[in-house]
Amino acid sequence: MTDTEMRIDPKRAAALVSQIKTVRERITAVSSGRDVRLVAVSKLKPANDILALAQQATPPQLHFGENYAQELSQKAEILPRHIQWHFIGGLQSGHCKNLAKIPNLWCVSSVDTEKKAQLLDKHRGELLSSFSSSTPDVPTPAKLNIHVQINTSGESSKSGCEPGAAAVSLCRAVEAAPHLHLLGLMTIGAIARSVATTPGNENEDFVRLREQRDLVAAELGLEGDRELELSMGMSEDFEGAVAMGSGEVRVGSTIFGARPLKSEAKIRE
Ligand SMILES: *Cc1c(COP(=O)(O)O)cnc(C)c1O
Repeated sequence: MTDTEMRIDPKRAAALVSQIKTVRERITAVSSGRDVRLVAVSKLKPANDILALAQQATPPQLHFGENYAQELSQKAEILPRHIQWHFIGGLQSGHCKNLAKIPNLWCVSSVDTEKKAQLLDKHRGELLSSFSSSTPDVPTPAKLNIHVQINTSGESSKSGCEPGAAAVSLCRAVEAAPHLHLLGLMTIGAIARSVATTPGNENEDFVRLREQRDLVAAELGLEGDRELELSMGMSEDFEGAVAMGSGEVRVGSTIFGARPLKSEAKIRE
């Protein structure tokens, strides 16, 4: 199925366009003129919804986030190549190869071990060399952007690298990898804290991530704010996160509505 064959329900498209416009306005209201990337988290939502936002939002929405490697691969296969995909879910070593080979995978936000970074680097390198003699009408894939995920809440249920020396050493490894680009640090944080986050009431996980960013920037000789971004903030807490300096927010249900069960999710409608 190509995008021209994919059905877009006009009512659904209008609702999505209006919801994303509201989220964009809420970000602008607290960003003090900074550019903040909005990743529309489309996990378990049909490809039709993604196409509607890519075609009908003004400006078009191109950054989309997914949590499941196979679902991301299937959607990338049937949707236009100019979409910029983000893998934001729990990363498994076994998925690194397939992910890195998706040419328009723009960022992996959940790197938490050197082993996974090395796998992504190796397979991205293979993809890039296979494209070196490519036809001019196909966009050439680029280095893969990486967020190192930090477990800022200390909960064993949350993935992510330990803060401190471990985070610095993982960031150093990502920076040294020839086919990866260290874009910044990411956290999910504790739900209870995110619900309590409002501008003026600072979320401890976000404070922690900012401290880790400053530490890594100092150790690696990077200019914190400009060269190492923060990816923090979801539906419940994105305004507080932006007020605290987040460079990227990942918003799902506020744009797309409640998600279906994984067993009932459909790739296309
Ligand atoms: C699902 C998810 C989001 C979006 O969550 P919402 O509450 O629906 O906005 C953001 N980040 C990660 C890592 C997620 O898994």
